[in-house]
Amino acid sequence: MDTFIAPTDRADLLRAAVSQAVEFLREGEAVALPTETVYGLAADALNPAAVARIFEAKERPSFDPLIVHLPHRKRLADVALVPPDIAETVATLIDTFWPGPLTLVLPKAPALPDAVTGGLPTVAVRMSSHPVFKAVVTSFGGPLAAPSANRFGRISPTSAAAVMKELEGRIPLILDAGACPEGIESTIIRIIPTPQGKPIFRILRAGPLTKEDLQPYGKIEWANGQPDKKGQIPPPEVPGQLPHHYAPTTPLRLVENPQDFHPEPGKRYALLSYRGDAEDGFLDLTEWDHVLVLSPGSGKLPEAALRFFHCLRSLDELGVDEIIAEPVPLRGLGMALMERLRRASRY
Ligand code: AMP
Ligand code: MG
Repeated sequence: MDTFIAPTDRADLLRAAVSQAVEFLREGEAVALPTETVYGLAADALNPAAVARIFEAKERPSFDPLIVHLPHRKRLADVALVPPDIAETVATLIDTFWPGPLTLVLPKAPALPDAVTGGLPTVAVRMSSHPVFKAVVTSFGGPLAAPSANRFGRISPTSAAAVMKELEGRIPLILDAGACPEGIESTIIRIIPTPQGKPIFRILRAGPLTKEDLQPYGKIEWANGQPDKKGQIPPPEVPGQLPHHYAPTTPLRLVENPQDFHPEPGKRYALLSYRGDAEDGFLDLTEWDHVLVLSPGSGKLPEAALRFFHCLRSLDELGVDEIIAEPVPLRGLGMALMERLRRASRY
């Protein structure tokens, strides 16, 4: 199958791209769409054959559940059942953070095919704030299952060109809206009610909405599979949060302290630096084949998140022997970046 990239940067192009995408979705095809987090591979969530197309294109194992995107919050009941004891919290979180990069794990509605949730009794659901995604899902008029538009276990795509590299020949259409504004996948939480006081938010995947953002509304708890206080990752409690994920083809090693890196003679190394500052102790460690800086703005985590997968992908394409990654601070968005670096690291 030929894969076409449809531009969306003019009103007429956007209209044409949206109607083409909706046509494919109605036919049960999977199409790649930009979201504020990363590019997603979308298909009709209520059509099992369409959902199967996602798994096929991504080579994703069937136990790994998908995220469902709604056209409108009023459509939540199509895919999820909100238990009365968390209804108020769910309403507050939706009022505050939707549309946006917050995914809620809720009991699944019977009408939602089991294929979407990998057989789990729960569904992960959100609403995207990206104008192009919104235009497509609104015009489609129903829930779309849309995991990241990469082949399983590989780097999430944050541009149409990156989706093309991952899925060319496997899907008919990619809507191109340039770089994704957040750059990393959504924050996923499960809400646990408590008899009195604030509910507990268990963070299943760290993402653009940080612990600090969510704290006013609930008590934060990190699920298994998330970094503990020392930043180590215990085995996950949900499928999909696999210990090795987001992995470049080139071996990547997260080096916590510069003194832990001992370059082997003759090997070519690339550095994924946080700030690109010699003071951090990494720049002078060896004759780097290539250095990419996540946050040239001298250490700004949102900038690092936005550039993260793009930089990782660029370094992966150099053909070096190993990519060495510097740590980023374990606060705010840094939690989400370190989680991804740990999963990408083979050591
Ligand atoms: P993505 O490929 O970024 O769309 O991520 C989908 C991920 O969301 C999966 O790999 C799971 O880790 C997570 N997820 C989806 N559904 C559920 C669920 N019902 N419970 C817990 N996590 C889920
Ligand atoms: Mg993914």
